[in-house]
Formats: sequence, structure tokens, C-alpha cells
Amino acid sequence: MKIELEKSYEAKKYEDKIYENWEKSGFFKAKVDKNKKPYTISMPPPNATGMLHLGHAIMLAIEDILIRYHRMKGYEALWLPGTDHASIATQNKVEQQLAEKGLDKYKLGRKHFLEEVEKYVAKSQNTIRNQIRKMGASCDWSRERYTLDKGLTNAVQEVFIRMYKDGLIYRGDRIVNWCPRCESTLANDEVEYKEANEKLYWIKYGPFTLATTRPETKLGDTAVAVHPKDKRYKEMIGKKYMIPGVLGEFEIIVVGDNAVDPKFGSGAVKVTPAHSFTDFEIAQRHKIPAKSIIDEQGRMMANCGKYEGMTTLECREAIVKDMKKMGLIEKIEDYQHNLSVCYRCGTTIEPLISKQWFINVDKPVIKEGGKKVSLKEKSIEVIKKKKIKIVPDRFNKTYFNWMENLHDWCISRQIWFGHRIPIWYCKSCGHQEASKTKPLNNCAKCKGEKWKQDEDTLDTWFSSGLWTFSTLGWPEKTPEFKYFHPTAVLETGYDIIFFWVARMIMMTSYALNDIPFKTVYLHGLIRDKQGRKMSKSLNNGIDPLEMIEKYGTDAVRLSLVIGNTPGNDMRMYEEKIAGYRNFVNKIWNSARFAIMNVEKEDLEAKFTPGKIKSLADKWILAKLQLLIKEVDEDIKNYRISEAGTKIYDFIWNYYCDWYLEISKGEHKNPTVLLHVLKTFLKLLHPFTPFVTEKIWSYIEKTSLITEEWPEYSEELNFKKEAKIMEEIREIISQIRSIRAEMKVDASKKIHAIIYSKKRTKELEEKRESIMRLARLETLEISEKGPKIKNAKSIYIGDIEIHLPLKEMIDSKKEVNRLNKEIENKEKYIKGITAKLENKGFIKNAPKELIEKQKEQLEKEKQNLKNLRSQKENMV
Ligand SMILES: [Zn+2]
Ligand SMILES: [Zn+2]
Repeated sequence: MKIELEKSYEAKKYEDKIYENWEKSGFFKAKVDKNKKPYTISMPPPNATGMLHLGHAIMLAIEDILIRYHRMKGYEALWLPGTDHASIATQNKVEQQLAEKGLDKYKLGRKHFLEEVEKYVAKSQNTIRNQIRKMGASCDWSRERYTLDKGLTNAVQEVFIRMYKDGLIYRGDRIVNWCPRCESTLANDEVEYKEANEKLYWIKYGPFTLATTRPETKLGDTAVAVHPKDKRYKEMIGKKYMIPGVLGEFEIIVVGDNAVDPKFGSGAVKVTPAHSFTDFEIAQRHKIPAKSIIDEQGRMMANCGKYEGMTTLECREAIVKDMKKMGLIEKIEDYQHNLSVCYRCGTTIEPLISKQWFINVDKPVIKEGGKKVSLKEKSIEVIKKKKIKIVPDRFNKTYFNWMENLHDWCISRQIWFGHRIPIWYCKSCGHQEASKTKPLNNCAKCKGEKWKQDEDTLDTWFSSGLWTFSTLGWPEKTPEFKYFHPTAVLETGYDIIFFWVARMIMMTSYALNDIPFKTVYLHGLIRDKQGRKMSKSLNNGIDPLEMIEKYGTDAVRLSLVIGNTPGNDMRMYEEKIAGYRNFVNKIWNSARFAIMNVEKEDLEAKFTPGKIKSLADKWILAKLQLLIKEVDEDIKNYRISEAGTKIYDFIWNYYCDWYLEISKGEHKNPTVLLHVLKTFLKLLHPFTPFVTEKIWSYIEKTSLITEEWPEYSEELNFKKEAKIMEEIREIISQIRSIRAEMKVDASKKIHAIIYSKKRTKELEEKRESIMRLARLETLEISEKGPKIKNAKSIYIGDIEIHLPLKEMIDSKKEVNRLNKEIENKEKYIKGITAKLENKGFIKNAPKELIEKQKEQLEKEKQNLKNLRSQKENMV
């Protein structure tokens, strides 16, 4: 009895149901199993308020391939999903929504505002969960986590308090990147740079003339700095001067500092310690006081007299006007420079001094042998000693460079939404204590009873830095934590290496004295067809969900994975996805053809390699063995694109174009047909889980997702027969290309004569296939024979194929063509021969290369011989 398959595959009809079935059957769940090796991936948590974009889609596709592959390989594969509360991003979104209703967070108050945020988060978490499901992600939903859930909050507090007690976390007045719009500090790498056309103001400044882009900061100046070796100013260093200003005279001191570039402007710069990073550092080195003049809303403070309350830009305009009146402006030039802006909202960053919490990255605290090393040293060491491998390894350099230049990490944020800093202050005396909850004891200093918690929250990377272990129950030493940690691989975009990857390494080094993952796989970013970044303003983005709706998840996954190599950006466009939808259809059609060609009873028949007789069967099985071997190696080494390409080529070029074509004729062996089909379905499953699972359901009662990964079998690698079959394939292809070259009508059948040397028996076996696929009227096969005049001839190894196309061949033209080819061939042979006679080459070239060249020479000599005898056959 025949098995019926639908004529065409409609992804939309099946995908959701298949996913639901996998999930319901518990196939995604991982448990502690001492008899199996664990394989763990912590899914990079998308923002809780996010929408699935191509960056997520690519991460999900690659990770799902790795997880499905390892699950089939017999590992206990855990893929732990979750979401990130993404404090600034989420708070901004809710604030925008409130603004539309004429509300703001201050009107609501902290408590109600946070309730609004949580409501919003709960709603959007569901959206992102369903979108992850749409991608076919086989993650363990029973272990889903959220960076703000109870367990993770506990882990965050635990690490904070330990670090605090170790003296790694401190609070200090430091200059920070401040976003006046978000009203929060930003980490250095959360600052973006934007080229801007500004003005450079040359101002008269007592005995100096200075160039500055920010004349309004003059109100906070406390020094002038020059290069210590600058002859123009050497005498002035250490002296104090009174400087005329718009609010009256003020005093500065001149300092010599190597940070000053004597070539910029006049070589002397004004120092505003409270509002510039460089100036802050100069001030620290020379013990110069700082004077804050700009507040947290980016407005001039009360000490700015008539400028009080102005924004910095308003103040700049006003102060320049006043300075002009006083004759203090020498000239104004156009000036292009990089402006620091907030990576979340694009507002210009205002550096200012503020009381913040920092992590000291230089303090030796992690035990290492007999000594202690700092977070920075440890994080560099784990990569240097290859405890963690970065793929591709060129990012090692980027990582080291960033780590070596790392300053203390500012972890406090003035955002309401996030992990509140677990520090409590005594209301009477200000004494501080670290505690997860309000201290029950009285103040150790003044015996006061009332406590107040720090208002700030933690940088969102503080919690995501703990992600690999906080999600496994840490600080409890749970069986899951012991079994699944460290994780196998962290797969993410290279743009996030510092934000997240580096911080995970630092935090795990500290908390566990261990690594969070063994490998970091960095994928490239996605660009449009022209190679441009995708952006809202260009409107060139592609919505993965829309593409899934149109072409199915399998096609979207293939288009994201094939052609995508680690660390390199890739282009993405709709036609590409449509192309892979065609491939998915091809898979379906080829499977359908195979399945329609077997009987239901064949499904029960055992696959017995000993019974295989046909050349084509042995050939496809041998090809399949090579494929298994290579795909395995590729995936193990993160060459996912190569693995996908090889399976694609196998199905398209070998299975469909040849094996199925041949089996349409004389030969049929259902067990081989099924064995090959089932094997490549398994290989393909991690890449296109849906269509393969659907096909599987027609031939097996099990689920493909739980099947074992195919093993390479030496017994099925029929090398000898595969070689012969390759020759036959070559014969057919060559005849076909001569037909095309001579423009022989597709319906016209031609004659062929083959001198087979020792291959007669095998060629006879495939006579039907050769005749049918090469469209032959007659085929003579004999070991050898006389020369055939006016024929097109092909030589494959020592097999000769002659096509007596007589009247179709213009012999003059053909002789000319052959002469030209002979000439080229002779030149080429001369070239290789000269190379092989060159002593320098023989001495320096790798052995394999020399061998290859020798082989090539022999082949070309044979080809030349063939060409010459072809010419002789022409009349
Ligand atoms: Zn901002
Ligand atoms: Zn107290």
C-alpha cells in the first residue's frame, strides 16, 4: 500500500502544531542525568519589552542548531531561556506611554510607577515568548528566568554584598557620563559618538588665549593646563592668575600636565574638573578643586548668577554674547568634532560629578595559587590561557585591548526600574550597612533604629553578568548548578562583547572563581542587500515574523545561517528567504517522491548493508558517509554555514539530481531509499526542524527531535563503487554538456560509443540510466575499438566516449578549437613543469602541494594526449 503525502508543503499549516507537540511532549526539558554529559546554553535574554528582530532570530537559529545537534548526539542538552528587565530601555518606553497620557513618573511616585512598568513587562514578555517559539527554539521553558525575578534578585544582592564586604564596591564622587534626558549615569560603553558641526571659540583668558567648544563651562573653571615642556608657558606653571569673567574676576592656577596636546589651539586649555573627564583627571593629579555648575537636568546651577536655570545651550549663547560685549571673544571658527550621546535616547551626554557606586577592577581579590589577582587580571588570564575560546579568535585582541584600558565600572543608575542597591543608611547618622532586606539591628554607630535604602538601582549588566549561574539556582549549590555549569557556549553578536561577554567573565570569575562558558561564538551583524545597516530611518529592516508568516520558519532559519560566518556581517533580503523556501519545497518533493515509491510494508523492512548490490545505492551511501563525517566536524567547530551548505548540496546535487533520477529507471531498493532519506532528515533536522519532523511523521512513529544523530559507518563507505559511479555520472554530465554545446534539441536522441577498458560490466549495469539521462538512441559499450571519425570525444580516466555527431560538426571549426586548446594546454604543462624543476620551490613548498602539482601534471598530460587524438579523428 502506498503512503500519501500532500502535494506541496505549507509551512503555515504545520509549524505551530509541530512546536506545540514537541513542547507538550516534554522534549525540550533537561534534567540532571549523571549518565549523560551535559551541554548547556544560556539564551541571551531578550529585553522583556522587546520585539523579535533579526539579531534575535539569528541567535535563536544558531543556538537551536547547536542544541538540537547535541541533544541528538546523546548529551543532556539544556537551553535555558529568559528575559532581561533592561532597566533604561524599559523605563524609557513606559515614560513615553505616560507622557502620551500627560503623566510622568514623579506624578505617579516610585511605587505606582513601578507597578505600571511591571504591567507593561508582563504583557510584552508574552509577546517575546511566543516569538521565540515561532523561531522553533527548543528551549526548556520550565526553567525560564527573568533578571528581576526573586531568585535572580537574591543572586544579585548576594554578589553585591560579597563584593562590598571584600572592598570591591565603593561609593565615591566621580565624574560620570550623565544623560539629562534619562536622568541617569551611563557606562562608558553606553555612550555613542556622533559627528557634529560645532563652533570653536577663541577666548581671551587673562594672560592666555584659549580655544574651547564649551564657553559656558568657564563658570566652573579652576585651572589652566599646559604641557609641562611647552616653552611658551613653562615659566607660568604653579602660578595663580586672576581671570576676567562675565560674573567678575576669578582665580585659576596653571598646571603642567602631559594630557595637554600642545598642538591643539594655543596649547593652553581651561580646566573644568566637574564637567569633563580629562579635566577631572587632571584635577585629581594636581589636587585642584572641582566646581559643579550644571545640574542633573542639564541646567545651570544657582552659582551661575543670571544664567541660573538656563540649559547649557541657552547659556552658551548668552555667555558668548556677554563675552563679546566685554571684548573677551577673539574669534569663532567652525569646528567638527565627535559629540558624546546617550545610546538609548541620543541626548548629548553631560559629564558631571556625582556620588555613584563603582566596582574596583584593579583590586587583587580573587585567589589564584598563593596570591590574589584583580577582576581585570583574571578576566584577561582566562582568555590568554584559553580556558575560554573566542570564535573567531581575531576578537581576542579587541577583548584584551578593552580589558586593559578598563576603569572602575560605575554600577549605579538613577533609574527606578531595576535592582535597588542593597545598601541601607542610618537615618540619624548616615552610617551605611549592606543587607538584602531592611536591617533588623540598630545602627552600630549611633544605635539609631531607622533605616533608609539607597535610592539608586544597579546597572542592568550587573544582573545579566550573573546570567549563566544565577539562572541555575546559585547561590544555593543546586544539583542543576553543579551539573550544568559552566555552560558550553555563549552565542551572541560581536557588538555586545564588552557590554555583556566581558562582564559575565568578570562577575563569574569573582563569584565562582570559574568561567561562565567554554566558548564565545560571535555572530556578525545583519545588513541589507546593499550592505547598509538596517535602521528605522532607512526603512530597510526586515521583520522576521513577517517573513515567517510568508515563507515559513525553516526558510528564514536557513537564510540566516547559510552564508553566515562567525564575526562577519551578512546581507539579508527577502529574495534570499524566498530562495530557501524553494529549497524547503525541494526537500518535501524529494521526500514525497521517495515515500511514494515505497510500500507501507517497506517501512518495516530492515536496512541490511550486506544485501546492497546496485552501484547507485553504494555510491549514494558512500556520499552520505562522507557527509555525516564532515557535518559532524563542521558543527563541532562552529562551521555551521559550511555544514548547512554541504547538506544542501547533498540533497540538491546528489540525492535529487542523480540518485532519484537514476531510481526512476531500472533500479529500486526501498530500504536504501528510506535509509538515505531518514539519515539526511536527521542531519537536516537542526537546520529545518519543522519540515523534517513533518516528513518523519509519515515514515516513523517516533519524533525526529528525539532520534539519534547518524554515525559514520566504514561498512557503508563503498569507496570502490563510489568511484565507478562518479565516472558514470561524469559520462552522463559530459554527454549532456556536449549536447548543450552543439545545441542538440532536447527531444533528439543521439548515438554514443564507449570504449570502457575494464569497466564494461559496471557500465552495462548502468546502461539504462546512461541512456535515459544522456538521452541516447543507441549505446555501444566495448572494451576498445577503432577510431571514430568526425565525432565529439570525451575522455574520463581511461574511458573513451565518442559521439558521432557527423553532420552537426563543422570539422574546420572543431580543428581550430582543438588547436587552440592544445596550445593552451601545452603552455600550462610547461608552466607546471618549470615549477617542479625549480629547486627553490621543491625545497620550500609543503610536501602536499608538490604532490598535488605532480598529480596535476600527470592529469594534464593525459588531457593533452586526448585532445591530440580528438584532432586526429577530425577529417
Ligand atoms: Zn538618555
Ligand atoms: Zn546611626
